[in-house]
Parts: sequence; C-alpha cells; structure tokens
Amino acid sequence: MKYVLVTGGVVSGLGKGVTASSIGLLLKACGLRVTSIKIDPYLNTDAGTMSPFEHGEVFVLDDGGEVDLDLGNYERFLDIKLTRDNNITTGKIYQSVIDKERKGDYLGKTVQVVPHITDAIQEWIERVAKIPVDGQEGPADVCVIELGGTIGDIESMPFIEALGQFSYRVGPGNFCLIHVSLVPVINVVGEQKTKPTQHSVRGLRGLGLTPNILACRSTNALEENVKAKLAQFCHVPAENIVTLYDVPNIWHVPLLLRDQKAHEAILKGLNLGVTREPELKEWTARTIVSDKLHDPVRIAMVGKYTGLSDSYLSVLKALLHASVACRRKLIVEWIAACDLEDMTAEETPDVYKAAWDCLKGADGVLVPGGFGDRGVQGKILAAKYARENNVPFLGICMGMQIAVIEFARSVLGLHDANSTEFDPDTTNPCVIFMPEGSKTHMGGTMRLGSRRTYFNVADCTSAKLYGNVSFIDERHRHRYEVNPNMILQLENAGLLFVGRDETSRRMEIVELPDHPYFVGVQFHPEFKSRPGKPSALFLGLIAAACQQLETVLHDKGHLRKSVTNGMANGHSPVRAYKNDGTIKSSNGTVNGVYSNGNGIHLERNW
Ligand code: GLN
Repeated sequence: MKYVLVTGGVVSGLGKGVTASSIGLLLKACGLRVTSIKIDPYLNTDAGTMSPFEHGEVFVLDDGGEVDLDLGNYERFLDIKLTRDNNITTGKIYQSVIDKERKGDYLGKTVQVVPHITDAIQEWIERVAKIPVDGQEGPADVCVIELGGTIGDIESMPFIEALGQFSYRVGPGNFCLIHVSLVPVINVVGEQKTKPTQHSVRGLRGLGLTPNILACRSTNALEENVKAKLAQFCHVPAENIVTLYDVPNIWHVPLLLRDQKAHEAILKGLNLGVTREPELKEWTARTIVSDKLHDPVRIAMVGKYTGLSDSYLSVLKALLHASVACRRKLIVEWIAACDLEDMTAEETPDVYKAAWDCLKGADGVLVPGGFGDRGVQGKILAAKYARENNVPFLGICMGMQIAVIEFARSVLGLHDANSTEFDPDTTNPCVIFMPEGSKTHMGGTMRLGSRRTYFNVADCTSAKLYGNVSFIDERHRHRYEVNPNMILQLENAGLLFVGRDETSRRMEIVELPDHPYFVGVQFHPEFKSRPGKPSALFLGLIAAACQQLETVLHDKGHLRKSVTNGMANGHSPVRAYKNDGTIKSSNGTVNGVYSNGNGIHLERNW
C-alpha cells in the first residue's frame, strides 16, 4: 500500500478536498486502484450532529456513516463507495482509546497522546486503507489521506505527529506528501508572493513532515522565477511545484494537474515508475461540454437559505449532473421557504413578491431535506404551487413529507394534517415518528444509510427512470415517516405510493400520476449521483423541466402515454412483492442509475 498525504497551509478553504479528489482521479486514470481517508481533527464523533449551515452538508454513506462532505467529493470523483471509518475524527480516535483503557487493554500503563493516541491513528489508517471501496477484491494500490484544517492548528497536532511517525515507518518510496498552499498576488504590483508558503512549509518541516510536492493556489499560473524561489526556499524541486490557478469548473482540476505532470512527480515519489499516461478522455470531453452549456434550466430550491451553498452540496451536484446530461446550463434559484409565507407578505411585501416571482419563473421546483419547523408552511405552498400548476417537482426526504402533508390538507380537506415533528398534537398526523427512533440521543440514531425500496407500481415514472428494475438501494437519513394508517385514504384520492420498503409499511416513493413530474422520495438520491451517471430522479426532474422527459423515457424504451391527458400510468398498483414482505420477483438489478456518459457541471467556487 502506498500513501499520499494532502495537507493545507496558510488559510483554510483552499480546495484541499477537491485537490485530493483530483489527485485520486489522476492516479486512477493511470491505472491504479485508489481509496481515500479524510481526517477531521474536531471532537465530534461524526458530522451527524453538526449544522450543515455552519459546516456544510452531512454526507451519508451506504453503511449509514454521517460524514464530512469531502467524502462525497471522493465518491463522486473516484466512483467509489466509502465506509464510515474512512472519516477519522479526534472524537472517534479518543473514543477507541478510552474504550480500550476501560477494558484494561493498556495493562496498567499511563495512557497518553504519544504513543497511545498516535498509535491508534496509525493503526486506524492502515486498517481502513485496506478496505476495498471500488467493488473489486483486495486492497487498493494507493490511499489518499486528506488532513483537514491548516498546518499549525492545535487540534491537528496529534495527527501530524502520528503522520510523521507513519511516513518514517512506511518509508520514503511509500509515502508522498502534497502540501496545498496559497500564493497571493498583491494587486498594486501584481506580484506573486511566496512568503506565506515558505512559512507554512517551514511549519510543516518543524513538525516533522517533509513535502514532496507543492500545490499552489493562485489566480494565475506561477511565473518561473516564483517557482524557482519556492524551490530554493522550500527545498522542493521546481518540477514538483504545480499551480492550481482559478478555473471556472472544478472538473478542470485533474486536467490542470495532469498538464503539469503532477502524476509523474507522485508516481516517482511512490516508487511506482512512470506508468502509462492518464486516461482522461471522457473526463475531458465532459469538462468541455459543461463549459459550453448555454440554454438554461431554472430550478427553484425551496429550503433554508443561509448563503452557504455547501449546505446542499450533493443536491447541487446531482442537479448539475442531470442538467449536463440534458445539455442545459443549470441555474439554481434559491428561495428561502419562509419568504413564501403570508407573514412575509405582511412584514416585507417586496421580499414576498420577489420570492413568488422567482418560484413562478422556475422550470422545476425542488424541496430538499431538512429538520425542524422553520419555513415548513412556505415549503407546503411551493409543493401546492407545483402540484396545481403542473410544474415538475421533486421532494426529498422532508420534501416528500411536505408534499404528503400538502396533499392531505388541500385534496383530502384535512386542514390540520401535519407531521408530528412540527405539531405533536395534530389530529391528522400524516407523518409520524418512526417507532425504532430515539428521542433522547441525537447522534447516529436516525434511520440511516442504504435501504432497499421495492417498486409496487410496475410502470410508474420513477421505476422507468431507474431502468425498470424491481428494487433500488438508496441512502436514508430520517426520523419520521408517512403514517401507514393514512395510505389508503391518500391513494384513493390519487397520491400513489409507488415505492415501499420490504415490509410494504414504510413509504419510500410517492408520485402523482396525472402530473408531468411530481415525485417525492423518503431517501436521498443525491448521494449516489455521479458525473456521467446522474441520479435517475434528478434526471427526471431536469428532463421534465426542459420538456425532455418523453425523450429520456423513450430512450429507455418506455414511451410514456399522454401525460397531460389525465392518468398516465393507471392507478392500480401492481405488487412486486408478497404482502408477507418476501419478494415475489426480483431481477437482481442493483440501483439502475441512468447513465448516458455526459454528466459534468459548472462550478463557481472550489
Ligand atoms: N426531519 C425529517 C425526518 O427526520 C426529514 C429529514 C430529512 O429531510 N433528512 O424524518
């Protein structure tokens, strides 16, 4: 096993995650099998209890791990499936050491940061690096480790010490350190300044780590004399200094690295010789396509908007993957749900009008997942608007629950229909707390990770989009569910629960058959969307929003009958499983994700 460590210096937010993912992709393109580990030096055991509005989205893995969003970048770039242990935190390491201490495993010794915490870190890395993540057997060739934070942070000290020992232990030809740094340009003179990088490399060396490669973020390519200066002061050969200058789209980053022969420097550092040139043909083609997209598709995202788009990172990526597949330039219209509410009309009518104008100008509406009751009424109004005006709609997790509440209120006339999450005393609880949940412990107690959904209406739109498979595996993160006792009533009124779990009592996918595209899902399809393999339901939303749904379904061999003409697919559910929960027919296809090899997207920030 070979290790590539990516550290960051000078300032945070340099795009270390994207750089580490791009390095992984480049090595994969050279024919190597790659896995990755992200180290987050915070005390939380995992990201599950952290606010997405401060820290960015909580990414969910197949095994139910709630992890840092960088693991999402790795999964998307490398098309791999990571495990919860691929995200190391200070909390996890200390917990494992304390558990051992309580068991008496340290045999009377004083338990200390060095060597016990540092040993635990090294053992964790070696153990997790061996877990296959690409569907093949046996360990990968290379493990890319990203150390979160910036060199010099107090929190990361035990990790730096552990990694210093680790690099010495595995030896020089097995360990390559890439330090991501900043070369600012002083505007008045336009000069590229090397001092911050010099200082940060000095800090790194002082802590016992020697960089093999410098990856310098800057606005433009580094001038030769600047490179020479960095080489001299940082003791890194000039050919091992690459510039990550600003690009309009993160898909350029692996190409930037390849053009500057970063793979050669890494392979040399890892004693792997120079293998063949990286194979990035498809990747390059997608990047070019994405740069040239012109015709817009406008999607209104109705959620809690706080200005941090990282809070919905995977949803944005999934929208982009689907938009590129439909050859449209994605425009996301952010709408703060509460701006659509009557209260805003009274208090700030301008804001209210702007929010509604924005919603009405959109080609499609997406209500993403969420927690708590803020903005719920606004989300309900957005779902109602989409339902009544035939605007394509996708509701994810809470978005699906909202759609059910809206339908119960407007169509069934149950005016106080609600989720017990928002109103515990409602007389019409159409969304309820799941029996297996915990109300006292927040961390890791939701219904989490990959769960199976069986289609019980054979020719519904979502089944077709997934390629007519009988079941799919998608990732979950929720505490509440649609009340099974109200299903009959809702279905009789026209809201179909076309996908359910193996017991058929837990609702997973809801659809309105007499609507161009109205889909709600209890799971989070965004987590498994990949460039070139957009998530089926996001593809459905975007295709419907730019009048391509017929074509997409046709291409998949399922010409949908007149949608505008009332019931498109009939109302009679066709059971794909027996009522005792066993599956009657399963063709064994796993999660038929639509793939047309074209997904790629534009991005403003790293
Ligand atoms: N708050 C809802 C629940 O716990 C929805 C969660 C979500 O959207 N991820 O069920």
